[in-house]
Amino acid sequence: MKVSQYYSNENVEWYNPMFNDYDIVYCSKIFNFTDNYKYPIKANKVYKGGSGYGLNNKLPKEIENCKPDYNLYAENYAMGFTTRGCIRNCPFCVVPEKEGKIKPVGDIYDFWEEQDKLKLLDNNLTAHDEQFKRILNQLIDEEIKVDFSQGLDIRLITPEKAKLLSKVKLWKQIHFAFDYPEIEEQVKEGIKILKNNGVKGYKMMFYVLIGYNTTKEQDLHRVRLLDDLGVDPFVMPYDKSENYQRNFARWVNHKAIFKSVSWENYRKT
Ligand code: SF4
Repeated sequence: MKVSQYYSNENVEWYNPMFNDYDIVYCSKIFNFTDNYKYPIKANKVYKGGSGYGLNNKLPKEIENCKPDYNLYAENYAMGFTTRGCIRNCPFCVVPEKEGKIKPVGDIYDFWEEQDKLKLLDNNLTAHDEQFKRILNQLIDEEIKVDFSQGLDIRLITPEKAKLLSKVKLWKQIHFAFDYPEIEEQVKEGIKILKNNGVKGYKMMFYVLIGYNTTKEQDLHRVRLLDDLGVDPFVMPYDKSENYQRNFARWVNHKAIFKSVSWENYRKT
């Protein structure tokens, strides 16, 4: 979207080699397991970007600093980053290697164009206290409905942050992660702080990574615990091709089934 904006004085369109020749083609790919485009790309110059192609390819500053072209996908919401990087080093995540330690890179006014809704792409906004406060206050003042799409860090929730979260308008549930069984006490404490400061349980959703380095018993314990604490678990299988991971995710993520059928009975079906 930023590339499209940068070339807004030219003819920008989706690649369609049947009908047109191109000077420049930009390809993007988020995941390294996504298939590459199968055919030779017909253009004078081809740029490939995104984590799927490698962790070092970055947009030049003059493109990175553009506002997104929201007409490209005809979306009715704003989206962008206000920080890059993260303070943690989760072994399954490319963010630390790709973006390094957390740093502010702007604020909502760099990409918001008065839309009602805004998707924040920050990987761990909670890890930067000042920026968290600044961005949350902007969202509250502008009365924008927000989706913290990459999740917030439950281990870093404080009463001050929880109060801000209780004031912001939500577009989607607030996403957190309970990937490691050993953070159980911090998860409980974080939920308690949020609830004590006005964030209701049904507004919280926790990603639960399975199939990476946890046992089936730990998986079941985490989703049951979250349910008991009045928040929604959402299972993320590390390897979707594995039967157990696929079935367990299907059971938990179908809320009506999760609430009415036990895992023991679901397994038998
Ligand atoms: S907290 Fe999130 S963004 Fe940070 S390293 Fe872990 S998975 Fe990646």
